[in-house]
Amino acid sequence: MHSPNHSLSPPLSSPLSSLTLALPDEAATVALGGRLAPLLDAGTVVWLDGDLGAGKTTLVRAMLRQLGHHGPVKSPTYTLVEVYVVSSIYWYHFDFYRFNDTEEFVDAGLGEYFRNDSVCLVEWPEKAAGHVPPADLVLVFRFPKNHHHSGRVLELSAHTERGQSCLNTLKSLIPGAAA
Ligand code: ADP
Ligand code: MG
Repeated sequence: MHSPNHSLSPPLSSPLSSLTLALPDEAATVALGGRLAPLLDAGTVVWLDGDLGAGKTTLVRAMLRQLGHHGPVKSPTYTLVEVYVVSSIYWYHFDFYRFNDTEEFVDAGLGEYFRNDSVCLVEWPEKAAGHVPPADLVLVFRFPKNHHHSGRVLELSAHTERGQSCLNTLKSLIPGAAA
């Protein structure tokens, strides 16, 4: 089974700051997406890590809805990338789950999507390790250790100053999360 902590290669630098949140139900994931989306400026790269069904696509859907997208937000598992134009910029939602080789990122020409006028939200970034541009923010979704508990635990970590500023603002919006 995929293990989020040990599969990212090359290893991520240690984060500048981080925040761990309990997401007890889907509504909590949706609420977080609503808070996070307006904080992401064009040029931001977010990696979404966590097993199948952890809530990565749910969070992305909530973000796009918050920004005014009304249509469906489908998992890009087969298409590799779904494109949205909201809040006057491009939002690209990727899913590399089906990659057998990290080179498929290069073969598909996906590097062109990572620009200073787009926000890139990437599921399964480890499947394109070494090619996918580094993240400003890394979000790791985990199932609670006690599987009788539903819900998820989300660890958000900032790896650039851009990511850190976003995380600081998010902390200020969440009661009890301030550093
Ligand atoms: P992923 O993209 O990580 O594979 P999805 O978002 O497609 O996962 O699916 C997540 C599933 O878990 C959905 O059925 C959703 O309703 C549910 N879910 C999302 N967030 C939570 C949460 N915080 N607690 C419990 N269930 C959740
Ligand atoms: Mg998904």
